[in-house]
Amino acid sequence: MTILEDAARPERAISHHTADPEFAGLVRRQLELLGEDADREGLLRTPERVAKSLAWLTRGYEQRVEDVVGGALFAAEGHHNMVMVRDIELYSLCEHHMLPFFGKAHIGYIPNERIVGLSKLPRLVEVFSRRLQVQERLTEEIAMAVERVLQPAGVGVVIEAYHLCMMMRGVEKQNSKTITSALRGTFRDCAMTRDEFLRLAHTPSSAS
Ligand SMILES: [Zn+2]
Repeated sequence: MTILEDAARPERAISHHTADPEFAGLVRRQLELLGEDADREGLLRTPERVAKSLAWLTRGYEQRVEDVVGGALFAAEGHHNMVMVRDIELYSLCEHHMLPFFGKAHIGYIPNERIVGLSKLPRLVEVFSRRLQVQERLTEEIAMAVERVLQPAGVGVVIEAYHLCMMMRGVEKQNSKTITSALRGTFRDCAMTRDEFLRLAHTPSSAS
């Protein structure tokens, strides 16, 4: 079995369990530059909280796909139809503004020899979404990871997300949703497979 490395940094200096003093000091300085009194009661512990929270929100840097998927790979046993997990909740931070973007990911693949435990796909999304991201790269990285781990006949990923950097800063873009897709293997080469996947991905779910 070949599972290639991704770009995880498990040796990262900061942790989300304890606030890094240097990081907290920088947040305190940000508060001052914003014109705040960093010593007023409501803000006293804010630098520590922000340091821990940002470390947590970017904990994907400490994770690797192979660790997350672990032993949850199984023989496909002749199953060669599309497997699809829809509406995977997703929260990330845009790397341009460090503001959240959030939405849903839909992942489909056609097994070759292996299938993966279904609960692992949302965890795989977390590995890449909990980093500073752009939505296009996030979509590609998830598709590449599925391809690497499962070597499927094809894989497709669609992400639909709202970006707070657009919604909070502009006035005209408050309801615009950004949709990105990454298609590989038969999902790119075979029109029927692609259409089936995109139709499944874009059908509004009755649950939401
Ligand atoms: Zn942004």
